[in-house]
Amino acid sequence: MNLIDKAVKKVSSGERLHFTEALALYQDNDILKLASLARSVKERKSGNYVYYNVNRHINLTNICVSGCPLCAFGCKAEEERAYVMEKAEVIRIVRQTVEDTPDLSEIHMVSALHPDKPFSYYLEIVAAVKATAPQVHLKAFTPVEIVHFSNISKLSIKIVLEQLKAAGLDSLPGGGAEILDDSVRKVICPNKATTAEWIKVITTAHSLGLPTNATMLYGHIETIEQRIQHLITLREIQDQTGGFQAFVAFPFHPANTGLSELERVASWEDLKMIALARIILDNFDHVKAFWMMLTLPIAQLALAFGADDLDGTVVEERIIHAAGATTKTGITKKEIIHFVEETGYLAVERDTFYHPLKISSGVKINA
Ligand code: SF4
Repeated sequence: MNLIDKAVKKVSSGERLHFTEALALYQDNDILKLASLARSVKERKSGNYVYYNVNRHINLTNICVSGCPLCAFGCKAEEERAYVMEKAEVIRIVRQTVEDTPDLSEIHMVSALHPDKPFSYYLEIVAAVKATAPQVHLKAFTPVEIVHFSNISKLSIKIVLEQLKAAGLDSLPGGGAEILDDSVRKVICPNKATTAEWIKVITTAHSLGLPTNATMLYGHIETIEQRIQHLITLREIQDQTGGFQAFVAFPFHPANTGLSELERVASWEDLKMIALARIILDNFDHVKAFWMMLTLPIAQLALAFGADDLDGTVVEERIIHAAGATTKTGITKKEIIHFVEETGYLAVERDTFYHPLKISSGVKINA
């Protein structure tokens, strides 16, 4: 039996793929075969449900010490577009969002690495958000930000996470993983957390009962082998901790970055990566098609390639759009439900832990 047939047989019977089998499936480039395999894995795990949540993004600042070539969001303090939100403004946004969005279940807060704001600023913001909206889940700070907090406060990663948790942090989004290979990171983000540091933050967060997502940024200078190894590294971490809630793949948007000579990979590649991730990550419950990165039509197609989550209504997002994403900065529940129902799946409004709140027929399950 050749490698591809072996891989197909293994996925169909729920067995784990090795690196070489995953690579063979990728190189085979039979996208319909991949779709069918990934879709069967998705349906084994989440049946005919496709999840979304009602959330709001807040990006506290874009002033950043890191200067990553991959980034279009971070800037220097003297640039015209530089901004920092103070606590009062964050409270105003949270109050307003809660008022405008009665179903709001999550605030998603990630930012740049500000050179001067002390760790106490972030602790105070977390506490203020929780005091303003105690019923809303606060998912905040990538491992890259946590390493920055550890550096500026001289506290260990564990203590930083413990203090954030005590202030009200509920989970971490898991961004900044890019490709977990330092030879790639040296080129695309030389000054931010290393592979080992990213993994340390994630495993420490999991050990403290703070779940996270896992991410991958593909389509820049990495090889296909490095993408597959990245997914296998995530799978190994999940074997140890069980703390990942979902995997999210981000295609690299080169516009306005230090790597703008690169081209954005095509939709074919996006769909292959979603499917491959769904197949390799056998111990992950959920794979997101992050519509804002992919565009809505590709995110909708991704539901036939193994994705079971479209993420959220978002409301306002600055980081991806700084890199030239032309998607909207938010979407209504009605639009998301329509997009899911067109695929034949049921749109399920969820909380951050994937507890179903409402399904698209309007039947209330749990709220
Ligand atoms: S990717 Fe993050 S750390 Fe790097 S420059 Fe952008 S905001 Fe700063």
